[in-house]
Amino acid sequence: MNGSRFDWNSSVSIDFLLTSGKSGTAQSSKRTLENMRNAYGDRGAVEDLLKQDNPLIYEFYELGVPERRGDLAFGTTILYPGRIGSEYYMTKGHYHNVLETAEVYFTVHGEGIMLMENPEGDWLAEPMKAQAALYVPRRYAHRMINTGSEPLITFFVFDATAGHNYGDIERQGFRKLVVCGPDGPQVVDNPRWKGGKS
Ligand code: MN
Repeated sequence: MNGSRFDWNSSVSIDFLLTSGKSGTAQSSKRTLENMRNAYGDRGAVEDLLKQDNPLIYEFYELGVPERRGDLAFGTTILYPGRIGSEYYMTKGHYHNVLETAEVYFTVHGEGIMLMENPEGDWLAEPMKAQAALYVPRRYAHRMINTGSEPLITFFVFDATAGHNYGDIERQGFRKLVVCGPDGPQVVDNPRWKGGKS
C-alpha cells in the first residue's frame, strides 16, 4: 500500500467493506501455512498438508499510517476457518514493540478466541463474537483463533508507534493452545512453550 495517496495530516475517509473485511483502497498482506509452519503443534499435520496444498490462513489490510506519536493505525483482518490437526486456523500472534500499547478489535463477522499473554506470566482467552469489541490490554501478546465455520472478520485500531514483534512468539509460542475438543474449543497447556521469563 502506498501511504502517500492519503494526507495523514488532514481528515481521511476510508471505506472497508465490513461485510467482507476487504478494502477498496488497500492491498492485503497474506499469510499462508508455509509462512507460519512452526506456529502449529502438530508438525506432521503441517508437513503432510504442505505436500499437497498451501492454504491461505489469513489476510489483513493496513493503510500505511505514519508511525508517529498521536496517530492511530487501523485495518481489517480476515482469518479463514479451518484446522491443522487439532488446532484451529489462527494468526501468528505478536507483542507490540512498544509493550505499553493496547489495541481494540471489533468483530464484524464470525466467532473465535483472542489468546493473550504477558511477560509476567498472566494469560487470557477471551471469546470474540460478532458485533462485540475486545480490548487487548497493554503488555499482552495477542493471537486470534477462528473456532467457527465462517471467516472471522475484525476491524482493529492501535497506537501507530506500537510496532510489531513477531519474533518472540515465533521462538517461544504461546503458553496455551486452543484445540478442538469433543465439546468444542478447549484451552490447554502448550507442551512446546519455550518461554520462561516468569
Ligand atoms: Mn497488535
